Amino acid sequence: MSPGRLIDGRAIAAVITQQAAGAATALRDRGVTPTLAIALPNDDPGAAWYVRSLQRQAARTGVEVDVHQVASASATMTALARLSADPAVHGIICPTPLPDGLTAVEAGAAIALAKDVDGANPASLGGVAAGEPGAFAPATAAAVMEILASEGIDPAGRPAVVVGRSTVVGRPAALLLIAASATVTVAHSRTRDLAGVCRGAEILVVAAGRPHLIGAGHVAPGAVVIDVGTNATEDGGLAGDVDTAEVQPIAAAVTPVPGGVGPVTTAQLLRQTIWAAEVALLG
Ligand code: NAP
Repeated sequence: MSPGRLIDGRAIAAVITQQAAGAATALRDRGVTPTLAIALPNDDPGAAWYVRSLQRQAARTGVEVDVHQVASASATMTALARLSADPAVHGIICPTPLPDGLTAVEAGAAIALAKDVDGANPASLGGVAAGEPGAFAPATAAAVMEILASEGIDPAGRPAVVVGRSTVVGRPAALLLIAASATVTVAHSRTRDLAGVCRGAEILVVAAGRPHLIGAGHVAPGAVVIDVGTNATEDGGLAGDVDTAEVQPIAAAVTPVPGGVGPVTTAQLLRQTIWAAEVALLG
């Protein structure tokens, strides 16, 4: 059997960015600058790296990124309320880690639903679960679906397994796969026989945050494997949750880390910001 394809996330992101840039230009022509506000409540190096990469990508897309550094739980809540009420702001995110005393649910709930472009508000997750057309899914979960679509894979009727049930990735990815008519199993740290469960998948989405958790024994021949995991390695690099070298000979296709889900997530977040600006313009 020939080895599976390595899915090129950067190429998929480039297509999304090209489409989004066209939409951003149309907005600017109508006097609207699509704007993403980042309430940054930490000095975490990982968050700083993420903000810089968003800024770089936003410049290519035609989205303005405004960073609002905040220092405490109450300052974060105040900033999120102010940005939610600011008509010049179309999207809002609040990268983790959060300050002591502030939960992800509290911070997410302070983001206006219409501007919740990374699906952090629990009500957005409810909207995704209910199939509300305007509800924003977290960009990473939406990126999983974009990758499947760009690979020409229709999830309808297929067995899909999502490893991870966080509200940021696993749970919304499972909801989007259900909406796309896949037959979905959600695995987590209490799942018995993870390898056996995963081998039942034609689509395997892994978001566990455990480097190389998924190996050859977890993958059915011909499966499509989407690796969401990003785990820092000792040499300063990134490792996925999937052992790509082991899995690629068995799978039909697998996303690499880096260069898979990550760039698609960034492109999707900026596109969702543009959608929010379009909806705001239409009133
Ligand atoms: P999280 O909140 O820690 O959730 C991890 C999930 O994986 C939990 O549901 C946990 O189960 C499950 N899990 C942990 N160990 C497991 C095991 N041995 N077997 C089966 N399930 C296991 O993490 P997250 O925020 O969802 O992020 C997951 C990964 O995605 C991380 O590596 C993160 O860095 C990455 N990520 C990437 C992007 C991107 O854009 N590429 C964006 C967001 C996150 P329990 O619920 O039972 O504890």
